[in-house]
Amino acid sequence: MDQNFDCLVIGAGFAGAVAARELAERGGKRVLVLERRDHIGGNAYDCLDNAGVLIHQYGPHIFHTANRRVYEYLSRFTQWRDYQHRVVANVYGVEMPVPFNLTSLMLAFGLEKAEILEQKLVEAYGPEKKVTILELRQNPDPQIADLAEYVYQHVFLYYTMKQWGQKPEEIDPNTTARVPVFLSRDDRYFQDPYQGMPLEGYTPLFRRMLHHPNITVVLGEDASRRMTLPEEGGVLLDGAPFTGPVIYTGAVDELFGCRFGRLPYRTLDFRFETYDVDQWQSHATVNYTVSEPWTRITEFKLLTGQVLPGKTTIAKEISRPYTAEDGQIPYYAIINPENNALYARYKALAEGRGRFYLLGRLAEYKYYNMDAIVARALELCDGLLEEKGV
Ligand code: FAD
Ligand code: UDP
Repeated sequence: MDQNFDCLVIGAGFAGAVAARELAERGGKRVLVLERRDHIGGNAYDCLDNAGVLIHQYGPHIFHTANRRVYEYLSRFTQWRDYQHRVVANVYGVEMPVPFNLTSLMLAFGLEKAEILEQKLVEAYGPEKKVTILELRQNPDPQIADLAEYVYQHVFLYYTMKQWGQKPEEIDPNTTARVPVFLSRDDRYFQDPYQGMPLEGYTPLFRRMLHHPNITVVLGEDASRRMTLPEEGGVLLDGAPFTGPVIYTGAVDELFGCRFGRLPYRTLDFRFETYDVDQWQSHATVNYTVSEPWTRITEFKLLTGQVLPGKTTIAKEISRPYTAEDGQIPYYAIINPENNALYARYKALAEGRGRFYLLGRLAEYKYYNMDAIVARALELCDGLLEEKGV
C-alpha cells in the first residue's frame, strides 16, 4: 500500500481537477494527480502565444451552464468576464446568426417571405421554441419543408460533413440537436442563465483549484509509468498495491492496450494565425457552413476581451479521423451503437478493478460540455465521500 496518498487521479482537466479538490478539501484526503501533458487544464488550457494573445490551445472554450451548483463552485476559483457567445455562419459571404433564428430567416428569405414563414413556424411549434433540424425536416407543410431544406443545405450539411465525415441524419441526433433552429430573435449561441469567460483565463482557475496542501500534481507523467493494472485484478501504484479510489479521466481503451480495438474519435488540427490588426472578423466565432475546408474560425481576443492593440490571433479548425499517430488528440467521441458497445466492453474491464472510476469526456466516451463534467465530478465525489473509509 502506498503510504503517501489516499486517492489517485489521472488527468488534470476539469474532471480530474474538480475531483482532486473535492477529495482533498471536503474529504481531507491526500491526492496524487498524474498528468501526461506539461500543463494543467486539459483541453480547457489557455496561454499567451508569441504575440502575447491569450489563446485556447485546444480549441475555443466558452463557459455556460444552467447548473447553479457548478457555477457557484467554479466561482470560488475565478471571477467572470460577462460574455454572451454569438456565432454567425458565413453563407456565401452573408453572415447570419447560428443557431438559425428569426433574424437568419429574414437574411435568407427577405422580409416579406420571412414574415409568412415566421407565422407558420410559430403556429406549428410555438413562440421562442427550439426545433432540431431533423425534426423540422419532417414537417409536411411545403413552405416549411423548403425552409428546412434551406437550413439543412446551408447550415448543417457541409459543416457536419467536414466535422464528422457523415451527413446530419447519419450521426447521433443529439449532436445536431445542440444547435437547433430557434424561433426567436435571441441571437446568443446559448441561453443558459450562467455564461462567461474566466476573467484571467482558464489556466489560473485550474491553478487555484489544484492549489491545496493535500494535492500533489505531477506534470509530464503518463499514468502508465506509475500505475499498472495486473491481469489478476487490483491496481498497483509504483509497483505496490493501491487500495484507495482511482479516478481515471483518460481514454479507457488505452488503459487496456486497446485489446478490443481502438475507440473511434475525430481529431482536430488548429491553424493559428496572427495578424497585425486590432480585430480580424465580426464575431468571436464564424462558422463556414457552405465553403472552406475548416469548420469555424475563432478570434480569441473577442472571447477573452483581452486588450492588445495592433495584434490578434485566430484559429481555423479542421477535423479528421483520429488515428492515434503523431501526438494526435482524441477530441470527439463518435457516438453510435457500435462504438458504444465497444466502449461498454472496456468499461466492464475497468469496473472490474473495484474502486476504479471512469470520469470525464474521454473516460466516459461522451460529448460533455465543461459544466456537465464539473457536475459529474462533484456528484462522484459526493458519493465517494459518503462511503466509509474513502
Ligand atoms: P480533458 O480536458 O481532455 O482532460 C483529460 C486530461 O487527462 C488531459 O489533460 C490528458 O492529458 C490527461 N490524460 C489522459 N490520459 C492520461 C494518462 N494516461 N496519464 C496522465 N494523464 C492523462 N465545453 C464547453 O462547455 N464549452 C465550450 O465552448 C467547449 N468547447 C470545446 C471545443 C473543443 C474543440 C472541444 C474538443 C471540446 C470543447 N468543450 C467545450 C468540451 C470540454 O473540452 C470538455 O468538456 C472538458 O475539457 C472535459 O474535461 P475532462 O477533464 O473530461 O477532459
Ligand atoms: N452544426 C452545423 N453547423 C453549424 C453548427 C453546428 O452543422 O453551423 C452541427 C455539427 O454537426 C456540429 C454540431 O451541430 O458538430 C454541434 O455543434 P456545436 O457548435 O455544439 O459543436 P462543438 O462546439 O461541440 O464542436
